Amino acid sequence: MSVTDPQIPHAVSPQPGRIIFFDTTLRDGEQSPGCVMHSDEKLRMAHQIAALGVDILEAGFAIASEGDSESIRNIAREVGSARGPIIASLARAKREDIEAAARSIEPAARARIHTFLSTSDLHLAAKLKITRAQALDQIAEMVALARTYADDIEFSPEDATRTDPDFLVKVCEAAIQAGATTLNLPDTVGYCLPQDYAEMFRNIQARVPGIENIVLSAHCHDDLGLAVANSLAAIQAGVRQVECAINGIGERAGNASLEELAAILVTRRDQLPFLHNIVMNQLYPTSQMLATCISFGPAPNKAIVGANAFAHAAGIHQHGVIANPLTYEIMTPQSVGVPHDSLVLGKHSGRRALEHRLIALGHNLTHEELDAVYHRFTELADRKKTIYDQDLIRLLKPAPSVPAIA
Ligand code: MN
Repeated sequence: MSVTDPQIPHAVSPQPGRIIFFDTTLRDGEQSPGCVMHSDEKLRMAHQIAALGVDILEAGFAIASEGDSESIRNIAREVGSARGPIIASLARAKREDIEAAARSIEPAARARIHTFLSTSDLHLAAKLKITRAQALDQIAEMVALARTYADDIEFSPEDATRTDPDFLVKVCEAAIQAGATTLNLPDTVGYCLPQDYAEMFRNIQARVPGIENIVLSAHCHDDLGLAVANSLAAIQAGVRQVECAINGIGERAGNASLEELAAILVTRRDQLPFLHNIVMNQLYPTSQMLATCISFGPAPNKAIVGANAFAHAAGIHQHGVIANPLTYEIMTPQSVGVPHDSLVLGKHSGRRALEHRLIALGHNLTHEELDAVYHRFTELADRKKTIYDQDLIRLLKPAPSVPAIA
């Protein structure tokens, strides 16, 4: 079961029946505690996120550091081919940020500058110390500047969900007139309820001239556990781009989880009849690869990619599932790339079984690497009865993982 349609190009014009996936694992995700990645890890993840079929890959925040800027350039060069995702860099609505973003994405075949400015009265007064009128001027000026570097410009009014609705209309008008092609209205602090988030988008659609030619985007945080629900409410209100991250990583409680959104669109296509380009059986391998790059994996009870997400076969539901998987499964593990493998790894397992499992998890090791991992595996198997995938992932790294310094 897949809604992927290979005939649909990676277009960014608003299409009634298609959801654009914007992945921010390497930007919003990477800037959260415990998620810092080295440049080579980001490049490896970028290749995998492209294989997952995302439409837009936000590769970083170019002005943040020389390393970030170089990392975006590498990703733009190696992953940003004509058939690959659009490569985006974040920039505050400041000249030096926009220029740094433009330089970093320059090698990509298709590139986007994503610029933002806070628009809530709280942020304007406490953080930026500017008036609403000054904010409008800055948005117009900086979006226009960004447009001199790229045709594809996303503007985000930060803290949109706590911005005065009438002022938000003016903000969106200013950004569109200055050349923005995507308008992302983030729930920056994860405060919104689904109906409020949908209402905000309906207000913008009803009142902003030219909005029909713009891609509207949702960017939700999970502070109240509503990031995915709010993203769905936005989709049902007509939004066609969702910003999300693998394993739901991101600032504080994280961003909307990419794998959950994709699985909902496939499993509940009866209610949500939208196409998208996500390659469903790459979800689990991508999740596992991210776990090897950062200091934590998904919680065991995490939907879709957690260790227990399909674990019912080992419990009381086993008989039902053997008789007919539909008794307890709304999707198959294989459909999201969870290896269907009854092999139980433990102290009696050999190198072949370990290698087989690692390949199923997306890790093709060299002979020497396998030797080293097998050595650590046998040590662990002496202490632990059953070795789970999460244990194997940890064994791939020579040193025990160090707790993140928050
Ligand atoms: Mn965010």
